[in-house]
Amino acid sequence: MKGIKLYVLATGVLPQDKSILIAGLTQATEKNRNPVPVWSRTPTYAVLIEHPDGYVLFDTSVNPEGMTKRFPQSLKTMNNYEAADDEQFPARLAQLKVKPEQIKYIVMSHMHFDHAGNLELFTNAEITVHEDEFAQAYKAFGLNSEMGVYVWEDLHQAAMKKLNWKLLPAGVEKKVLLPGLTIYNFGSGHSYGMLGLLVELESAGNILLVADAIYTSTNYGPPLKPPGIIYDSIGWARTAEKIREIATEKNAQVWFGHDEDQLKTLKKSTEGYYE
Ligand SMILES: [Zn+2]
Repeated sequence: MKGIKLYVLATGVLPQDKSILIAGLTQATEKNRNPVPVWSRTPTYAVLIEHPDGYVLFDTSVNPEGMTKRFPQSLKTMNNYEAADDEQFPARLAQLKVKPEQIKYIVMSHMHFDHAGNLELFTNAEITVHEDEFAQAYKAFGLNSEMGVYVWEDLHQAAMKKLNWKLLPAGVEKKVLLPGLTIYNFGSGHSYGMLGLLVELESAGNILLVADAIYTSTNYGPPLKPPGIIYDSIGWARTAEKIREIATEKNAQVWFGHDEDQLKTLKKSTEGYYE
């Protein structure tokens, strides 16, 4: 659609064992009982869309105080998040002279720490999230239980701000957010409820943002390779095939959630935008 601009906000890396992204990547065998794990500098990013009807965000990346204050030790040990000051998510928005209160809509792929870290900033936005994802994240929050890849303080700050949540019911397959922007319900897979966003650009063509429904092109295959973090393996595989169908039907590029090679090829917000 004419008049839509898309910015890629690259927000630092998660140094981690690559088997988090690709399950069983370095599995031992009789002949190789002590395989060497592959180290990954897994990139994180969010997407800002400038639409004639207002600013839209797809995800909100990691909280700048994650490593110093918010993350439990287990999360820091697994993902030693690295981002220079100018790579932090709020800084990326500021570089484009966009104020958080100007954001009108947010689509949350899911609520893990590297996607939901800055929700508290967006008090004017309507925030769409899968109802099952929201329910499970806030269930863990309320129970004060071990939260794994959700961060208690991120959810606490979001709750304190009385944000304008819009829950996408499990049975709704897709929803037009604005002309040229369609939310897809990928259901359970990597997490309890995953959402994607199809962005229809005039010159760059269609882009399907799938976030962690598919971490990398290696997971996508074919053949499919499941990720190391997965809630519903059957749902995950079903989603991957659904994504392939949508991408074919809409002639869309698929942008994965944490693909180092793919992100290198994308134009970052410091270099320009897609339109
Ligand atoms: Zn992620």
